[in-house]
Amino acid sequence: MAPGPEREGMSDAETTIDEGARDFIREIIRADVEAGRTDTVVTRFPPEPNGYLHIGHAKSMCLNFGVAREFGGRCHLRFDDTNPVKEEHEFIDSIAEDVRWLGFDWGEHLYFASDHFETLYLWAEHLIRAGKAYVDDLSPDEIRDYRGTLTEPGRNSPWRDRPSGESLDLFRRMRAGEFPDAARVLRAKIDMASGNINLRDPVIYRILHASHPRSGDAWCIYPTYDFAHGQSDAIEGVTHSLCTLEFEDHRPLYDWLLDNLPAPTRPRQYEFARLNLAYTVLSKRRLTELVQDGRVRGWDDPRMPTIAGLRRRGVPPAAIRDFVGRIGVAKADNLVEAALLEHCIRELLNRTAERRMAVLRPLKVIIENYAEGATEELEAVNNPEDAAAGTRGVPFSREIYIERDDFMEDPPSKFFRLAPGREVRLRYAYFITCREAVRNDAGEVVALRCTYDPATRGGDAPDGRKVKATLHWVSAAHAAPAEVRLYDHLFTRPDPGAGGDIADDLNPDSLTVLQDCRLEPALSDARVGEPIQFERQGYFCLDPDSTPGRPVFNRTVALRDTWAKIQKKGAPGGGGQKQ
Ligand code: ATP
Ligand code: MG
Repeated sequence: MAPGPEREGMSDAETTIDEGARDFIREIIRADVEAGRTDTVVTRFPPEPNGYLHIGHAKSMCLNFGVAREFGGRCHLRFDDTNPVKEEHEFIDSIAEDVRWLGFDWGEHLYFASDHFETLYLWAEHLIRAGKAYVDDLSPDEIRDYRGTLTEPGRNSPWRDRPSGESLDLFRRMRAGEFPDAARVLRAKIDMASGNINLRDPVIYRILHASHPRSGDAWCIYPTYDFAHGQSDAIEGVTHSLCTLEFEDHRPLYDWLLDNLPAPTRPRQYEFARLNLAYTVLSKRRLTELVQDGRVRGWDDPRMPTIAGLRRRGVPPAAIRDFVGRIGVAKADNLVEAALLEHCIRELLNRTAERRMAVLRPLKVIIENYAEGATEELEAVNNPEDAAAGTRGVPFSREIYIERDDFMEDPPSKFFRLAPGREVRLRYAYFITCREAVRNDAGEVVALRCTYDPATRGGDAPDGRKVKATLHWVSAAHAAPAEVRLYDHLFTRPDPGAGGDIADDLNPDSLTVLQDCRLEPALSDARVGEPIQFERQGYFCLDPDSTPGRPVFNRTVALRDTWAKIQKKGAPGGGGQKQ
């Protein structure tokens, strides 16, 4: 294999959290620290436990945990569990596992918004007493109707000016469970004419007679996201509350609440652009639909952009951190090429993954001049990028398998692999020459008769003759059967759903299952999740679906690097030359 472009610009696997990252968030924090406004930098990663984490969350984690580490502060893991209807223990457990797997550590600082429910409740009473919140009896539809639109101001609810004593009494009775769901809400009293709809008396508590995964039936009123989030930040002493751009319009509310509450600390919110990745969706609602509709095999289906899916597919956490480091943090929305993620995976695995031989679509080769029943062991290099990985023995015998695609009976001029009369090299073994294709009754090629040159063992021909191709192979008698799963993008367009119904954009060929693959014997030692390069095919890893005698491998990524090509085309003067 020619040294590919994936070898350029290597960075060390251990330092993929970029300590030297510079972006507007880090500039703000640096300035706060230098001016003495911030003593210890405290950030938080605040997932809502209503689904599995995806690679968009990895961006948020790398930023929050990364900043905390760089500034010698700390990052909290906080479950934003204010909506009991959609939240489950399964999600809490998977999120904690995924955060840890990505290499982040919250130490003792694990929180749940639900830990703060009592304080939040008392703060809601505080607002009522101060005349800054009121219980509203309007129905959800009426509230929507009164809210106005982007161009029209809202109207005051008839309950807006009810005495605070009355609101306090009703709020306590809401808590006591006297009213059914949605009968009443608590609203902050801000400004129904505000240009910012979030300030038009936002709902801060609602009635929900639902059991909560952690607080059980202790509560039948729950704070809204807006009321829980900033207040949890303040309770925990978060200094910089980093969130995605869709919360920019919520920032005035975030500030208003903290300005009007007896909060012990004063966090500030900053917004950055969320990650959008081509050919996939990064919205928990959409991902939940894919799982529920059976479009994928589960949250950890290797086609999913979830952390669990990427892990099962064989993507190392360092490749995800590297990817996130390269895309950076900015305020402009954009769509990141899927090829960049693949490039980061390849670059890391090229250095770390051991090489093995596996034939995915086998074609038998009979080497007629090789002694029947003989076996020899050839020496194969485990990783040309890492001498310390050593070598292994690979058995060779008279019958081997090669890749079906590596033979053509009537090859076009650019096809240099095996064809009748053509000589090629078998990796680590011999030169072989194809003498004849064997056909079945249907006329299909089922085997090749070849001869080998014993003088070429593990090297070149003594007479200096050259071959133009090197093929991987496995010894038929020694090979183990296996299933291999190849993955492609889940969607056929980079912006799924943009053309109408997202279901129409699902890629029907996102999964290809190959049932009749053959592995070299050393692959029987493979461990689930451990990355391995199948020579000339890509990077693979053992799937947990494997059973004794029936290994299943996932292709993490193919070898061909489309990102390097995209870059080359885009580079000034790089006009698509061949390498
Ligand atoms: P979704 O839009 O998928 O439902 P979410 O924002 O509701 O995501 P949360 O669990 O609330 O999911 O997210 C936890 C944190 O991760 C939040 O701070 C959120 O802003 C951030 N986050 C979510 N999606 C992305 C993304 N695509 N890119 C960067 N950060 C993200
Ligand atoms: Mg959210």
